[in-house]
Amino acid sequence: MIELNNVSKWYGEFKVLDQCSTSVATGEVVVVCGPSGSGKSTLIKTINALEPLQQGEIYIDGKAVHDPSTNLSALRARVGMVFQHFELFPHISVMQNLTLAQERVLGRSTEEATVRGVALLDRVGLGNHADKFPGQLSGGQQQRVAIARALAMDPIVMLFDEPTSALDPEMVGEVLDVMVGLAREGMTMICVSHEMGFAKEVSDRVIFMDQGRIVEDCSTDHFFRQTQTLSARAQDFLSKIL
Ligand code: ATP
Ligand code: MG
Repeated sequence: MIELNNVSKWYGEFKVLDQCSTSVATGEVVVVCGPSGSGKSTLIKTINALEPLQQGEIYIDGKAVHDPSTNLSALRARVGMVFQHFELFPHISVMQNLTLAQERVLGRSTEEATVRGVALLDRVGLGNHADKFPGQLSGGQQQRVAIARALAMDPIVMLFDEPTSALDPEMVGEVLDVMVGLAREGMTMICVSHEMGFAKEVSDRVIFMDQGRIVEDCSTDHFFRQTQTLSARAQDFLSKIL
């Protein structure tokens, strides 16, 4: 479903991604972790072509993200993204947040988009909040709307970049619950996250990054249970966060 072949990227002289290769199969849930500045967000943004790469190849569903002739907006419409900061449109209602791109990008009628929006808001437990503005919701609620908004586009894969790290602790669980549900339903997911409980519970694989490189790429079981076989950097990281 997603394939990265020797992806390298520079910001000026600084090599932010260094020969990253991995692949993610349909229905797989992969958690990406690693120290601050190791390139996790950049990797996610590169997959979605929000950031260009200078070397290597990325394929999503067989389509070449790195190829300038690929219709990126069509591709992006099928890739759901949820960031650390919710980035909902503040000046329109929750429901309009859910229907806007369905109408403009997918060409759905308002009725059709609303039906989908209602179902998704229910699903994330916010059925009563359709007419509110994002600013009237808590951080956890806004993040759940952001997930619903991404799902409204019928994505073939969901990319998450630390969706819970800016939330108050009591709101983390409600967002993780939605993510756990998605994972269990078979959504293909790549999640940058330091929520190791979530990683253990639902992920199939863990990727550990350090200094722009994918240092570990192994089964979740292996990552947490056979720590003595991991690189010193990964062991050090785990000892700090577990
Ligand atoms: P964090 O855990 O803090 O979110 P990260 O692993 O997501 O870190 P990135 O945001 O991908 O790290 O950044 C990787 C490196 O690239 C960092 O050293 C960062 O300073 C640098 N970097 C990120 N964005 C840019 C940019 N637009 N221009 C120049 N350097 C950048
Ligand atoms: Mg980041």
